Amino acid sequence: MQQHGDQYIGGAWRDSLGSESIAVLNPATEEVLASVPAGTAEDVDTAVAAARAAARAWGATAPEERLAYLTRLRDGLAARQSEIAGTVVAELGAPIGFATAVQAGLPLAVAQSYLDILAGYAFTEQVGNSIVYAEPAGVVAAITPWNYPLHQIVAKVVPALAAGCTVVLKPAEDTPLVARLFAAIVHEAGLPAGVFNLVTGVGAVAGAALAGHPGVDLVSFTGSTAVGRLIAETAGGGVKRVALELGGKSANVVLPGADLTRAVSVNVGNVMSNSGQTCSAWTRLLVPADQYQEAVAIAVKAAAKYVPGDPAAAETRLGPVVSAKQRARVRGYIETAVREGARVATGGAEPPEGLDRGFYVRPTILADVTPEMTVAQEEIFGPVLSILAYRDEEHALEIANGTDYGLAGGVWAADNETAVAFARRMDTGQVDINGGRFNPIAPFGGYKGSGVGRELGRHGLEEFLQPKSLQF
Ligand code: NAD
Repeated sequence: MQQHGDQYIGGAWRDSLGSESIAVLNPATEEVLASVPAGTAEDVDTAVAAARAAARAWGATAPEERLAYLTRLRDGLAARQSEIAGTVVAELGAPIGFATAVQAGLPLAVAQSYLDILAGYAFTEQVGNSIVYAEPAGVVAAITPWNYPLHQIVAKVVPALAAGCTVVLKPAEDTPLVARLFAAIVHEAGLPAGVFNLVTGVGAVAGAALAGHPGVDLVSFTGSTAVGRLIAETAGGGVKRVALELGGKSANVVLPGADLTRAVSVNVGNVMSNSGQTCSAWTRLLVPADQYQEAVAIAVKAAAKYVPGDPAAAETRLGPVVSAKQRARVRGYIETAVREGARVATGGAEPPEGLDRGFYVRPTILADVTPEMTVAQEEIFGPVLSILAYRDEEHALEIANGTDYGLAGGVWAADNETAVAFARRMDTGQVDINGGRFNPIAPFGGYKGSGVGRELGRHGLEEFLQPKSLQF
């Protein structure tokens, strides 16, 4: 077991000012992998002071200079792909194939996308008798979750640095090791001291101290709605900018005439990947009432391909969930569904056979789910798909829009035109049309309770900029 006592602050690894630590578990074996400091409010003070001290000089660098640093950072991510994937397998339990392609591959693609955007971005604009400068927002607090631990770090830190901001990162308690690896890559890229800082720690202590710190100008948060609300309140009081990515309960709507087998099979894969721990997952499948039984049968067959197992084994497609707490939460939702009248078509709350250790959950398909049920309203964050029947298109739209969330979704129809017409009426930030694939430069973020602001692409960069107008 590795015992780390240090955090990356002001360009160096420094011991935490506190004495508490956080044990990092391997969710597949329940063994302790490592420990990291539980950073204190004083650690956060030191990190914010370092970021503040570096902010003016970094903000004044030419975009070409930042591009050179970020190119080295991208190269570091590329060189460490297998180490990144291995770390995410160990601390999150993502299967190695998925961890390599997505958990390590996506951050690299996102970093590359910001090199392209930065190279072509116009930081000044003539508006009438004014020149408008896009200036950095200042010191950024980045608070990230554990489900795509490196992606969520890169999707905040890289555009923030590209914009000329300095950053203090507080990663999730469950996955601090890939965050430490990222800090090492930043260090090797030679970024000036204080431009990027890492404080590990628990949310209620280090996270809260960072979100409320008077030295922070902008808080970029991804995680639960409950914590997002707290952060928005604190940030509002401090007149700080805030960007919130708070998860979802996304609907995948199969319209009459669509390829049902493909739509349902893709949906099952979408929900099972990363053990269902994806904020944009299509956790509600909406199908026409007269195709309902057929859809459930297709889903059950597709789910059988996701056999829970060792995430380090190449053939595994479904690993454990991240923690005992998360497993209890997911099982609790399955039990609630049954109590409220849903039917377990496959899976269930019982532990999977033959897996005595590890935080495993059976891949579960819930049938006879109705829109008001808890599992049709709340984010479960586990390998659980709810299937709902609708009468007609208006009913499908009412169900799709009938939650507090609005992050993502899917629409399948006989042609793209019909699907687009439906998607335009959905209250959600992203919709995949007939299986359209994820686009790492399209704006990502929520309508309604799914959050405030957008990540990725040009929109993601602009979250970290503020305009200044000079008149002539
Ligand atoms: P969380 O919101 O508690 O944690 C996310 C991050 O916020 C972590 O870094 C955490 O340390 C930090 N944090 C916690 N309390 C804080 C506070 N008071 N002030 C500042 N920062 C704080 O999420 P969780 O407990 O890890 O997961 C709970 C649920 O949230 C999940 O089951 C899931 O439904 C949802 N979730 C959503 C996403 C997403 O991508 N939108 C990601 C992870 C979790």
